[in-house]
Amino acid sequence: MYFPTIGLEIHAELKTKSKMFCSCANDPDEKQANINICPVCMGHPGTLPVINEQAKRKVIKTGLALNSQIPEYSKFDRKNYFYPDLPKGYQISQYDMPLCKGGFLEINKRKIRITRIHLEEDTGSLVHPRKADYSLVDFNRAGRPLMELVTEPDIHSAREARKFAEELQLILRYLDVSEANMEKGQMRVEVNISLQRKSKIQNPKLGTKVEIKNLNSFRAVEKGIEYEIKRQGEVLEKGGKIIQETRGWHDVKQITISQREKEESHDYRYFPEPDLPIINIKNQMINLNKIQAEIPELPRQRRKRFKKEYGLDEKSTEVFVQNKNLGEYFEKAISELKNWAKIKKIKFGADLIKLTSNYLINELIGIAGRDFKFHEKISPENFAEFITLICQSKISSKIAKIVLKEMLNTGADPSHIIEEKKLTQITDESEIEKVIKKVISTNPKPVEDYKKGKQNALQFLIGQIMAATKGKANPETVNKILRKFL
Ligand code: ZN
Ligand code: MN
Repeated sequence: MYFPTIGLEIHAELKTKSKMFCSCANDPDEKQANINICPVCMGHPGTLPVINEQAKRKVIKTGLALNSQIPEYSKFDRKNYFYPDLPKGYQISQYDMPLCKGGFLEINKRKIRITRIHLEEDTGSLVHPRKADYSLVDFNRAGRPLMELVTEPDIHSAREARKFAEELQLILRYLDVSEANMEKGQMRVEVNISLQRKSKIQNPKLGTKVEIKNLNSFRAVEKGIEYEIKRQGEVLEKGGKIIQETRGWHDVKQITISQREKEESHDYRYFPEPDLPIINIKNQMINLNKIQAEIPELPRQRRKRFKKEYGLDEKSTEVFVQNKNLGEYFEKAISELKNWAKIKKIKFGADLIKLTSNYLINELIGIAGRDFKFHEKISPENFAEFITLICQSKISSKIAKIVLKEMLNTGADPSHIIEEKKLTQITDESEIEKVIKKVISTNPKPVEDYKKGKQNALQFLIGQIMAATKGKANPETVNKILRKFL
């Protein structure tokens, strides 16, 4: 059996106003090709790059959030290679003096060490029209700020690699550093993986590394690694040798395909970028404490706090952690709910919190969808009032759905909707009795059946009563009186 050792290289496009070294717009949604370009990002002779401060701060912020050290000095280097999407013939990147060194991210209670996080510029993108014998190049992306994070080979399963990438994406979004959308190529994961015989895992010498590129979803990261573990295992089992190479993930065939033999870093002839000054954190008055203070509560902390403060189950907590806005909405609704509970004299506690969480996750998202904008329509205060109305049995769960839909459509407050649409629950026993008597007299057969012991018949009769009252009768009262009459 073989033991996999995995390291990750993750690129993320930074959310900034302008590009890395010029004032062109950094617009990931630009529709027209080659529109956000200028002589600087096109590498025309005689132009000079200028460092984007916002990009620099965002990388430092990420480093601080991931427990990295920020060295006092840092510099940019040229990484030389030829490719049609690289107008300058080199990429401005960072080689031996990155902005952030070290750090870690905890995944399933295991610290995955981070080697470095550096800042560089993105390349353009190639477009291959269908059936054409040519390719097109769009330079809108060329020169956009790109962050590269490299991990130590601390990962040992496909699942763990996927988790790392997912958690990193979430952190980048919490930090507002990157949209990190994988489908849009805003976050790109490369994997390097080697296998070792299980009996030799104490041996510090690892097996030959293979790199997997072109993984454009979390699923692809997981599947690509699983495939490589299997493929390399089979090669080794037959006594074969693993070649150090770069393989591409083929998403349709679900396999990796050899692309090229891996180049070494000396193949890039790195040298210091002569057109840019060395970054001196102190001299440039980059206040690390200030950046640290801008770091919000991170997913890991939120998970802990939500569990402790609201006592929700893991699944609900995760919904609120994954969807930052929804989590914030939930917290606002809870704080409003405390006020409502006081006014309406109902007990505020775990039950009410759970009710709120359930209605938010199961009902509201069910109606409004995940890309909700419902906070624009339903204020947390109105939502909290809605919950108190359910809690006080002013409305049944069936009516609650109608009210919620109406709130979403009109933005009106729930008590207003209930009054206007006459949706108040009927709790008056004499009124319910009347309806029950009528239903019993018009349904002799089900009544007979029930008396013979058929429980279904009771459900049928309740259904008839609820229909006759348009769902407004209090179900408990109906149940009680109906049993009395039968
Ligand atoms: Zn430009
Ligand atoms: Mn890179």
